[in-house]
Amino acid sequence: MSLVADLGGIVGAEHVQADPPARAVADATEGRGVQGRADALVRPGSTEEVAAVVAHLYERDVAIVPRGGGTGFAGGAVPDGGVVVDLGRMTRVRRFDPELWRIEVEAGLSTAHLRRMAREHGLFFPPDPGAAEQSNIGGNIATNAGGPHALKYGVTGDWVTGLEAVVAPGEVVRFGGALTKDVAGYDLVHLLVGSEGTLGIVTAAWLRLVPAPEVALPVVAAFPSPAEGVAAILDVLASGIQPSVLDYLDGAATAAAGGSFPLGTLPGGAPFLVVAEADGAREEARRVAAELREALQARATTVFSPEAPGEVAALWRWRDGVSLAVTAQRGGKVSEDIAVPLDVLEQAIAATAEIGARHGLPTCSWGHAGDGNLHSTFLVDRDDAGELHRAEEAAVELFAWAAAHGGTVSGEHGVGLLKRGGLALQWSPAAVELQRAVKRAFDPKGLMNPGKKEPA
Ligand SMILES: Cc1cc2nc3c(=O)[nH]c(=O)nc-3n(C[C@H](O)[C@H](O)[C@H](O)COP(=O)(O)OP(=O)(O)OC[C@H]3O[C@@H](n4cnc5c(N)ncnc54)[C@H](O)[C@@H]3O)c2cc1C
Repeated sequence: MSLVADLGGIVGAEHVQADPPARAVADATEGRGVQGRADALVRPGSTEEVAAVVAHLYERDVAIVPRGGGTGFAGGAVPDGGVVVDLGRMTRVRRFDPELWRIEVEAGLSTAHLRRMAREHGLFFPPDPGAAEQSNIGGNIATNAGGPHALKYGVTGDWVTGLEAVVAPGEVVRFGGALTKDVAGYDLVHLLVGSEGTLGIVTAAWLRLVPAPEVALPVVAAFPSPAEGVAAILDVLASGIQPSVLDYLDGAATAAAGGSFPLGTLPGGAPFLVVAEADGAREEARRVAAELREALQARATTVFSPEAPGEVAALWRWRDGVSLAVTAQRGGKVSEDIAVPLDVLEQAIAATAEIGARHGLPTCSWGHAGDGNLHSTFLVDRDDAGELHRAEEAAVELFAWAAAHGGTVSGEHGVGLLKRGGLALQWSPAAVELQRAVKRAFDPKGLMNPGKKEPA
């Protein structure tokens, strides 16, 4: 029997596709020319089916590439042959205990759906990566996704208390569960978190929730220069204010997205913008928002502090659209997600522009300033192979710069296919070998998402 017929026997023929379409073998790196190919795509409907699919493929030495919403920025879900295992049918909420602030969901549930469900019960699932309608929980866990609220609330992994996964050669394993403390054994929950499909396929997770903040009050401030803006960010942190968000856009990112800024006209093109937020009980959020305003306006040219729910929602829709607005400038972009210690944030913003200029490319950056996490971006014409090549070279220099300044090649998008070469820059040979040993322990045949995550 053929591979496709075998897989059809496990999941039903209607859930297997030979020669999957281009969009099913690409992710958000499509704009930088990354395109995959696969022998088949399979959409299992249960953990048992995932286990049977993995057992079948592992025995036959076929590569296995897990796929969530396909919004990744590192090419992690882009296959180079083998079978794509799409978790999109596994969207069940297995258990929801709002009174105990916890939920167990299958990997294919969308991030936005989970966040809405929590909200409807007065609860909050804080991780808020920007493509939340399309990304799913399995993908968020596999990349340990962040987002603007990671500053106060942490990244996805901080909200995972238990995982169910299928590991080679087709075993279902469960680590942690509906409990918030568990120090028995090595922390395999958080080894799988961020493992980008290279150690196993996450099929379900127990997640922690918290009571939703009563209000969230943004404060947006425009600055005359990056130096003033970064100084204001450091002022906020130094004065002991705890914002829930402390994001920034440089002048070029503001220029790209500024036309649709929902709160008014940005002064003088705004060379630097800070998007902050205070949340909590109404009085507490008001107090923190007032402190934020005070700390930011000392150096700012303009400060906006919307309170009407419609304006606040419009601001966040705008913020979520920044990445797309930047792409629209030239049709393509090579956008990285280095993270650096806060004391070199301003230098990292300047280094992005300087590296881009040396490669003859327009640049911009924006990101989660409070976490030192930059989306350093080289803008390209996606049909110009020369520009794409120069942008990839610029990215390699950027990684080297980050590593040399105590930073990392990836603060939130993961390593995937594209950043493997950067890992040896930030780790010693012994640390690299430990990473490889972990991979071998989980996946002795090297079939789980091959060519991803591991150091090149
Ligand atoms: C407009 C836009 C804004 C974004 N903003 C943010 C942001 O603010 N913060 C952030 O962190 N990211 C952001 N991202 C990147 C992306 O949304 C995240 O990386 C997200 O977590 C990927 O989830 P996904 O379901 O789309 O995964 P995919 O892209 O499908 O897969 C990502 C990786 O996870 C693996 N994987 C997927 N599902 C599973 C599973 N069930 N088990 C094991 N491995 C699996 C894949 O093999 C791949 O390696 C953004 C992307 C876009 C397009």
